[in-house]
Amino acid sequence: MTTPSSSRLLAAFSHFFPGASTVGSYIGGQLVTGEAADRVDLVDPATGELFLSYPDAGPALVGRAADAAVAGQRAWAALSHAARGRVMQDIARAVRAQVEPLALLESLCAGKPIRDCRGEVAKVAEMLEYYAGWTDKFHGEVIPVPSGHLNYTRREACGVVLIITPWNAPVFTCGWNVAPAIAMGNAVLLKPSELTPLSSLAFAALAEQAGLPKGVLNVLGGFGHTTGQAAIAHKAVKKVVFIGSPTTGGRIATACAARGVPCLLELGGKSANIVFEDADLVRASIGAQSAIFAAAGQSCVAGSRLLVQRSIYDRFVAMVADGARQLRTGDPQAADTEVGPIQNAKQYDHVLGMIKTGIGEGAEVVEGSTGEPADAGYFVRPTVLKNVTNDMQVARTEIFGPVVVAIPFDTEDEAIAIANDSDFGLAGAVWTADVARAHRIAAQVKAGTFWINTYKVINVASPFGGYDASGYGRSSGVEALHEYTQVKSVWVETAANPAAAFGYAPGIGN
Ligand code: ADP
Repeated sequence: MTTPSSSRLLAAFSHFFPGASTVGSYIGGQLVTGEAADRVDLVDPATGELFLSYPDAGPALVGRAADAAVAGQRAWAALSHAARGRVMQDIARAVRAQVEPLALLESLCAGKPIRDCRGEVAKVAEMLEYYAGWTDKFHGEVIPVPSGHLNYTRREACGVVLIITPWNAPVFTCGWNVAPAIAMGNAVLLKPSELTPLSSLAFAALAEQAGLPKGVLNVLGGFGHTTGQAAIAHKAVKKVVFIGSPTTGGRIATACAARGVPCLLELGGKSANIVFEDADLVRASIGAQSAIFAAAGQSCVAGSRLLVQRSIYDRFVAMVADGARQLRTGDPQAADTEVGPIQNAKQYDHVLGMIKTGIGEGAEVVEGSTGEPADAGYFVRPTVLKNVTNDMQVARTEIFGPVVVAIPFDTEDEAIAIANDSDFGLAGAVWTADVARAHRIAAQVKAGTFWINTYKVINVASPFGGYDASGYGRSSGVEALHEYTQVKSVWVETAANPAAAFGYAPGIGN
């Protein structure tokens, strides 16, 4: 059945796949329909109405995609490093030329504000440009071994890499991981969230039009427990990169361990955003809002625990609440929308449930939702909870929605102790005028990323990843290139008399 919502979505999708009537997988240069019996429902997060449903890819398509990737990787690796870089620059230009249609597709499917989507698509181009420059600059070295042999290392592609991405930032996480993977000569099986596959499919088609050989990037449209698991189990897959929830990350790591395949996990967070009384409170309050309310809090690095020095606690929490009240929540495609809906019903229920849990634990709603559902769509008003202690569930569980919990502290040591009293270790921040204190805290908070007097800035040139339950391995920066290559050590005999060099010479000269 065609509805106004589904027509809009298909029209945006048809920009990349003319005449497409449904969603599927992209394999070896073609959009193909899933072959499994189960179907995925794509729902409009802004209305709760069904966009369309499509069949899960299933194991048979995974097999075809893996074959295409093996062939694609051979063709890709046969190009010179510099030639691969030129193709990546061409893809970046193609992305820049298509910011608007890609952003629209992302906004419709993921429910993200259109202005955020434009920024994220532009970031994808930046990622491609950054790693295009690395293709011929990340190489092995000669090691001065004591024996006098020539010993050198080669940085070789892993082969076929499986990248599993989440629904909160589909096109961003696609570029973030595909760019370093292909820069190092790998082919990719990309398994986007079944709920948000469209921008990844569009990106793959665009990349091929720009010169990426067929089969280098294949997109699997389908469920994680079926299609995703079949891909992990496929013998062609040599590395798995996962971005998503801690629970699913555990399943992925277990499946990888069963095959002895390495994996990189980029999981959740419960990041502490620490505000001292000497901070520029206006800037800190704006920072605290964008830390949690951008992307409706559906961000792994969200500043979801706001730690505020007791002397300014009431005043500062009121400032954040005041800002939250003024944020424009609504239609993701409206130009001035700042906060969109939660992407899907399961997550929506979780966010509302966590707000109710917090209230039940004694937290006070200073601003926002009390956990009641919206009239239509998966909207949650930016919510500020105060009188929270770090042992409450709302302070320990990742909510992944626009809900910040404000926790008071007295001293620097107490702030650090609270920040570190979490299973997670993804990110954190401090706001203070005291430079020495800022660096002391940056050194002591366990987190893969830490900000001083700012929040949420990340860049493809800088490493990103988690401590503890937030995962392991690093994406972005030069660190990602280590993840997407394997090192080979090559030994060359240089002695005039190899037999003497061996110390014994079985079969030689006897
Ligand atoms: P959520 O729980 O919020 O839906 P997930 O972390 O489960 O988020 O999803 C992130 C990605 O992991 C998605 O692409 C999803 O399809 C995939 N996924 C989910 N479960 C599995 C699984 N058992 N095996 C492999 N991939 C999975």
